[in-house]
Amino acid sequence: MKGKISEIFFSIQGEGPFAGLPCYFIRFFGCNENCSYCDTKYALSGKFSLMTPGEVAGKIKGGFPVVITGGEPTVQTDFLADLVSKLEGRRIFLETNGANSIKRIAEKFDFISFHLIPPPTRGKKEFITEISRVRFGVKIVVERETKLKEIFSIAQFLKNFEKGVLILQPLSSRKRIVPAAAEKSLRFAKAVYPAFPRVFVIPQIHKLLDFR
Ligand code: SF4
Repeated sequence: MKGKISEIFFSIQGEGPFAGLPCYFIRFFGCNENCSYCDTKYALSGKFSLMTPGEVAGKIKGGFPVVITGGEPTVQTDFLADLVSKLEGRRIFLETNGANSIKRIAEKFDFISFHLIPPPTRGKKEFITEISRVRFGVKIVVERETKLKEIFSIAQFLKNFEKGVLILQPLSSRKRIVPAAAEKSLRFAKAVYPAFPRVFVIPQIHKLLDFR
């Protein structure tokens, strides 16, 4: 089986609780969403390489952790499952918008970052339940349309899962964090913390460093 791969590169993890960790990135091609703020549009349409799981795993050198990202990795679920088995023995992180179930492989990941695009529907809450056996973060990009009641709703739901954290990621534009989004993220975190203290405001630090 071959999968569509946009790129494979080395950088630091720029998001979430492992921000700063040097990692290899495997970017899957294709996505089921089309977010206005997407900074990887090139992985949604255009060029990709067709590769086997073994060919992809062969590009990962040394003992570094691997971040599987996109696009949206779960649009190629079977290929993802095969790739993860080839990467066994490494720390593997997954970044997903929860497009498809990963129930059968969730425990292969050291951390799952679930990009929740509000509102938090029943299907999205089911996905969180599915990944809750491993450490996970629900990431919400805070932009102009983001509503505090949606953040509260998901924080309330996350109380059920001790391995989950809530990450508010202020919107970036090009290489800059939008000041209004940063201010709003802080305000939301302050409001949510008393009910749910596992809330963080973490910007995309790779952009600040001008890394990929
Ligand atoms: S889910 Fe992620 S990759 Fe897909 S369009 Fe939105 S930001 Fe881009």
